[in-house]
Amino acid sequence: MSGVRVWRAVLGVENAVVEGVVLDEDEQVIVASVRAGRRQRGRCGVCRRRCRGYDGGHGRRRWRHVDAGVLPVWLEADAPRVSCPEHGVVVAHVPWARHGAGHTTAFDDTVAWLAVATARSTVCQLLRIAWRTVGAIVTRVADEAKAARDPLQGLRRIGIDEISYKRGHRYLTVVVDHDAKRLVWAAPGRDKATLRRFFDALGADRARLITHVSADGADWIADVVAERCPGAVRCADPFHLVAWATDALDEVRRQVWNDARRSGDQRGAKGLKGARYALWKNPGDLTQPQQVKLAWIAATNKPLHRAYELKEAFRKVIRIKGAHGSHLLDDWLAWASRSRLTPFVELARKIRRHRTAIENMLEHDLSNALIESTNTKIRLLMRMAFGFKNTDALIALAMLALGGYRPDLPGRLTA
Ligand SMILES: [Zn+2]
Repeated sequence: MSGVRVWRAVLGVENAVVEGVVLDEDEQVIVASVRAGRRQRGRCGVCRRRCRGYDGGHGRRRWRHVDAGVLPVWLEADAPRVSCPEHGVVVAHVPWARHGAGHTTAFDDTVAWLAVATARSTVCQLLRIAWRTVGAIVTRVADEAKAARDPLQGLRRIGIDEISYKRGHRYLTVVVDHDAKRLVWAAPGRDKATLRRFFDALGADRARLITHVSADGADWIADVVAERCPGAVRCADPFHLVAWATDALDEVRRQVWNDARRSGDQRGAKGLKGARYALWKNPGDLTQPQQVKLAWIAATNKPLHRAYELKEAFRKVIRIKGAHGSHLLDDWLAWASRSRLTPFVELARKIRRHRTAIENMLEHDLSNALIESTNTKIRLLMRMAFGFKNTDALIALAMLALGGYRPDLPGRLTA
């Protein structure tokens, strides 16, 4: 086998001719001279239509490719321009890279694949690129993937949610597909105008096909859903209901802690300080010290323990479907209303206001796990994508990770 043929296999560039490979001793990189195969030449870089040649462009160009062994590899080629009837004078298509990219498709896909899976510093060190570059690459990869498969196609049952990031200073509105179990749309902002942009992208015809919408109780979501898909059944989602109950519990905890402090009960106040997580967690997840803490609360602080029991009971009740669940919810509402705990009396009122959506939730069984896990995963991604200056990169990474758009690693045969 000749050297060039081995290199062709090593580089994995399809529809291209490897003309020669040299080691650049100064830069310690491998430079492979390539050219597009005959059928790939003279095409518009945007639409790939065959076009008239225009000029030689800016001469030879380089694209960063995946490493070979321990050395970075660059592909080098002419980058002539063509004249496309639709796109004007543009750099001609090359089979090894996306239009306008300074990296090869194989490199882009490697970055996107890795960025979904691992920490920022790992991606940057392994691939020798800045996080800014990762942002540009994931945006490019996600854009291409969305153009190939419209994420808004075939939506029937959706969930709408808001997610905070940058320590609660910024928000994204996200839409998930309950059937495909994917993230399908996200945009910065949490208001009617933002959500209307989703329905604009969806279009009236596809909006009519939406049968169920799950969301928290936010008015801005309910209003736009009523306006754009009035026929859909509106469902509450258990994730947010539990969050309401947890907030009520936390309010009670703060009240009793303040009371203990004001009355000079140092031991009581100190004991309550670490109680937050013991109260928050599901009983099955409690560590032993947290179990002890909870037992201490039960013995010494009746109102706080009552609030805890209300929260736990609520969490269980809203998982019981159908008429039985509905009756238990009635019982719970009566209990909360009589609890003499203001936050829970108010919570009961709020739940009565949203009763229809909650009944729909109990009846229709939309996947709670999806909203919950999307929520958690996006928050994790947010922390990682924190360094992205623009929100597009953050959303692109979320679509790759949660929208089913993660590319395969180059050169691997997929089943
Ligand atoms: Zn074109």
